[in-house]
Amino acid sequence: MMTNDIFAEGFKEEPYWWDAVPRARLAEEALPSKADVVVVGSGFAGLNCAIEIARGGRDTLVLEAQDAGFGASTRLAGYIGRFMHYSFTKLTGMFGLENAKRMWLESGEAQTVVLKRIEQEQMEVGKLWRGRFTGACSPEHYEMLAQNAELINKHCPFEFSMCPKSEQHKEVGTDFWHGGMILHEHGTLHPGKYHQGLLQAALNAGAKVHDFTPVMRIVPERKGFTVKTARGVVNARDVVICTNGYTNTTASAIPWVRNRIIPVPAHQICTEPIPSELMKAIKPSGRAVLDSKVNIYWDRPTPDDRQIIFGARTGRDEGSLKLNARKLHDCMTEVYPQLKDVKLSHVWQGVMGFSFDKLPHMGETRDGVYYATGFCGSGLPLGTSFGKTIGNRVLGKKEGESAFWNVGFPTWPFYNGNPWFLRAYVAWIDFNDRRGGQGHIVRGG
Ligand SMILES: Cc1cc2nc3c(=O)[nH]c(=O)nc-3n(C[C@H](O)[C@H](O)[C@H](O)COP(=O)(O)OP(=O)(O)OC[C@H]3O[C@@H](n4cnc5c(N)ncnc54)[C@H](O)[C@@H]3O)c2cc1C
Repeated sequence: MMTNDIFAEGFKEEPYWWDAVPRARLAEEALPSKADVVVVGSGFAGLNCAIEIARGGRDTLVLEAQDAGFGASTRLAGYIGRFMHYSFTKLTGMFGLENAKRMWLESGEAQTVVLKRIEQEQMEVGKLWRGRFTGACSPEHYEMLAQNAELINKHCPFEFSMCPKSEQHKEVGTDFWHGGMILHEHGTLHPGKYHQGLLQAALNAGAKVHDFTPVMRIVPERKGFTVKTARGVVNARDVVICTNGYTNTTASAIPWVRNRIIPVPAHQICTEPIPSELMKAIKPSGRAVLDSKVNIYWDRPTPDDRQIIFGARTGRDEGSLKLNARKLHDCMTEVYPQLKDVKLSHVWQGVMGFSFDKLPHMGETRDGVYYATGFCGSGLPLGTSFGKTIGNRVLGKKEGESAFWNVGFPTWPFYNGNPWFLRAYVAWIDFNDRRGGQGHIVRGG
């Protein structure tokens, strides 16, 4: 029989972030029959897009299937990175040097876009700017990370340094890794507070946000679109899709986008408050951590430095949140055996949106529907910046230009948003990680 041994009193099956920022309740208003622009989805991408469009003087309507911010934007870890999943070499091979440079720099700029937004809107978002430690899972991965740090320091204006295994305990209280790389310009924030700040900014800018209004179909007309929702019909000149990993939830609203997005579930746990001495031993530098596997382990302190949020096993789902929590607790104590007797306060799930080519995408469908999606686990910076860019695109402004605009958005024949291959794919990745296969150098999120 299963016991509650690892679950603290008051254990919750919802995001830690929702304690400080409960789900928003919006005033219930009649659905307008028309708008200049309909934005579908109220996460980071949708709200950043809506802020730009509403400030540009357009009548802007955000439609959300659940409550505002129900998707990954209030469920993530809160890492604010600078990069996509791609190595610079691979991007160059795919798009040529000039385009690769533009994409790489634009994805790097995304972090700045977040920081500017926070500053401009004067948000209190529990920002911790202490850098990130990427643990090497083997001596070979350490060498790979070191070569990468050298290359980046030579060519890019970002600061990377290495921490050998002998010095590792100054960074993290574990022998699990073989040294690691420090990314000094990375940080974390409280995603619930950031989302709340964006929602307020969108409402202040004059955008209307309607929750519990799933969009069922978007029908192109001679001029604009008819947007069919569960609460009525809206006519709009432009429509922007910002539904990322949740695109599939209301079946066929936007089949073209749905057929290009792989929804990937991921779980996180949060520990109960940890005695400060133990916390210092585990996180002497206070940095956020992830590692060089493909299916990474990651952990960070909560903004008040009292608890640890831990995630792993992306793409795996044991069927119940408690079972997922148990598996994650095992992974966490593999890294930090000192946490064996520490109980959990929260477990939750979110859904990431991956593209088949692992690139983030933004553009316009053949029918003229705009989309910003496929953030592959890096949607805090990229969702923010793509949302802003696409908002400017709708306004016809120069800031709407992007190196990512309408680059090919691949899919598989007959794929319809049901990732039937995910289990096998994740099993293969995990097998490869266990045998020390090729790791990952950079992570965006
Ligand atoms: C566990 C986890 C950890 C992560 N950690 C990080 C991290 O540390 N850093 C990082 O950068 N990224 C991270 N990510 C990824 C990041 O959370 C997402 O990329 C980002 O939040 C996507 O934002 P979005 O606005 O595109 O979509 P979402 O926030 O997912 O919002 C999409 C919204 O669209 C709505 N919707 C869907 N269909 C319809 C419809 N038909 N009609 C109306 N509404 C609809 C959904 O209800 C949902 O609210 C993580 C993700 C997960 C799951």
